[in-house]
Amino acid sequence: MIDDALRAIVSSGDYGSLVPVLPTTDTTLGGSCPRGHDFRIARVSLGHSHLYDATTVTCEVCRELGHEHSTWALIDPFTHTAEPPGRGLALVVTPPSVRGGLGQIAVYLGPRSVADADLMICAPCRRAVLEQIRVDPGCRRRGLGRLLVAASVMRAPSDRYRWSTTPVNNDPEVLAFWSRIPFPAPSTLGTPEYCSDMRTAAGIAE
Ligand SMILES: [Zn+2]
Ligand SMILES: [Zn+2]
Repeated sequence: MIDDALRAIVSSGDYGSLVPVLPTTDTTLGGSCPRGHDFRIARVSLGHSHLYDATTVTCEVCRELGHEHSTWALIDPFTHTAEPPGRGLALVVTPPSVRGGLGQIAVYLGPRSVADADLMICAPCRRAVLEQIRVDPGCRRRGLGRLLVAASVMRAPSDRYRWSTTPVNNDPEVLAFWSRIPFPAPSTLGTPEYCSDMRTAAGIAE
């Protein structure tokens, strides 16, 4: 039943019913919804997304005001699998084959990849570079990009790794994305700082 519903959405490409995701397992969300409504006043209810196979929180004020989104699915950015999950929403991590090489974190909805991030992490050099984030057009504005950044940064914590990204264009929507999410290194956003291992792995000239 659930798998049929998922298969129907994935095969039709109709992602309109997908609730947005939040990269957390904290069902209190720190006490307020993403619009800032304090749950002690706004009230919150918990539920379950069968499509994502994940816990959801609904802000009752957002719901009663008829906001486009009032329910968020909670996805743990640290939990991942090596293979597509078959059902539910899951992160699938493909580690790099060599030190400093390109790895990938993908968001799968059932058998299908709907978003992914390419990144280089070099543990000995304590460097991490986000190369690219891609989200299926039909799945945008659902928090998947934010989830991928959170999942990336968790794997190379910013107190130990120096983060940067490949060039970011000045499109307002792109800047809106980066300015809204907790990226740990605003000063090196758009200025990749590769270590020698990454340069070797990717064949980038010094
Ligand atoms: Zn709210
Ligand atoms: Zn290195």
